[in-house]
Amino acid sequence: MPEQDTIAAVATAAGRSGVGVVRVSGPRARSIIQSIIGRELTPRHATLAQFRDARGESVDQGLAIFFPAPRSYTGEDMLELQGHGGPVVLRLLLARCLELGSRAARPGEFTERAFLNDKLDLAQAESVADLIDAATAEAARGAMRSLQGQFSQRVEALIRGVIELRTLVEATLDFPDEEIDFLKQADAFAKLVALKGQLQDVLSASRQGSLLREGIHIVLVGQPNVGKSSLLNRLAGEELAIVTEFPGTTRDAIRQTISLEGVPAHIIDTAGLRASDDPVEKLGMQRTWATIAKADLVVLLLDATRGETPDDVSIMSQVPASLPCLRVMNKTDLLAIEPPRTVPGTLFLSAKTGQGVDALKRALLEAAGWRPSGEGLFMARERHVQALQQAASCLQRAGGLEGSLELFAEELRLAQDALGAVTGEFTPDDLLGEIFGRFCIGK
Ligand code: GDP
Repeated sequence: MPEQDTIAAVATAAGRSGVGVVRVSGPRARSIIQSIIGRELTPRHATLAQFRDARGESVDQGLAIFFPAPRSYTGEDMLELQGHGGPVVLRLLLARCLELGSRAARPGEFTERAFLNDKLDLAQAESVADLIDAATAEAARGAMRSLQGQFSQRVEALIRGVIELRTLVEATLDFPDEEIDFLKQADAFAKLVALKGQLQDVLSASRQGSLLREGIHIVLVGQPNVGKSSLLNRLAGEELAIVTEFPGTTRDAIRQTISLEGVPAHIIDTAGLRASDDPVEKLGMQRTWATIAKADLVVLLLDATRGETPDDVSIMSQVPASLPCLRVMNKTDLLAIEPPRTVPGTLFLSAKTGQGVDALKRALLEAAGWRPSGEGLFMARERHVQALQQAASCLQRAGGLEGSLELFAEELRLAQDALGAVTGEFTPDDLLGEIFGRFCIGK
């Protein structure tokens, strides 16, 4: 590793809090400790200390912890100053660290350094951001499992399998006369089949993991008073999703995130989509329509006491026809007779009594491709799913190339590259920049 500069940032959220943390990482951490605290710190021990400015005056007092390299989050010398969580105090402390030769860290730079120093692989580093951004308890648990390496280990096992097969094939290339026999003896093609199966297992688990991260995007349409708000409240139940504002998920009046058995469901309530001449509002509407076009499914809510009316048909005509649609008849508690049990594509429920709501939840999760597995899920990203799919197509193609060992070997190499992109073995710098740029500052 080339000699790094030293970075510093406030690691806790902006605003007032009981405790605020300033972190420093890099070769100057030791000298910063000397200047601010005036004595050496026992490694990894919390020490109550005064944090002093250039004139020797106390800016704050709190706990200071020194993590010498390589046993730190970044793998470098690190200092953590845990002071009082006031914005001015923390700004003063940070300014002091900057004055002493560190520079302000970019978003995600601590974790980026941890990745570059092999403390974490890329999938684990991404799960740090996913843990912080998790919208539901299940999503947080999934991110934690990925952070602990459960996802990476499965990808590593696939990489080892591909390497083993590559070694066989490449060795055979050196002895062209015996090639096919040799591979047959080594059971190479059966190994390929087994590998494809393992990859499919990881791929389907990753699709679930990605759903846990991205959530299900549902468009809720219906006339006024059919019970859209009541249904949203009922679905939200007790476990409301907590939505943080990170790129791509702005919180607005017509978008709510709820938790469906731990899977975040982002519900766009089209009641907010009214005609308007206000240019800002118009822009907002355009964005919302663009989101709708990318949604996973539409829920058309109807009043069971009225049935479908021409107005409902007109509402539906505004929604892209390509989206799968679930018709839901609400207010069944007002019906004089029991609602029919099975009408294809239509569900009956009462937002008021809750009857039929569980069936709707199941239908929504099923429509989105959620398969409850019972086992602990790890979190994954769309990027990972795509890389795994790419590896799967390479292995698929390799299977048809028994007669041409050079091409067979080449497909295996490409599969290995695609898998390596998940854990960051082969990841272009600009992609790394994009991944870490989405972190918060100080992480
Ligand atoms: P929205 O305009 O579509 O959001 O509809 P609201 O959720 O505000 O509901 C309109 C009215 O219908 C309110 O008075 C609700 O209490 C009532 N309502 C909603 N769902 C039900 C239901 O399942 N049964 C009955 N009886 N009333 C309901």
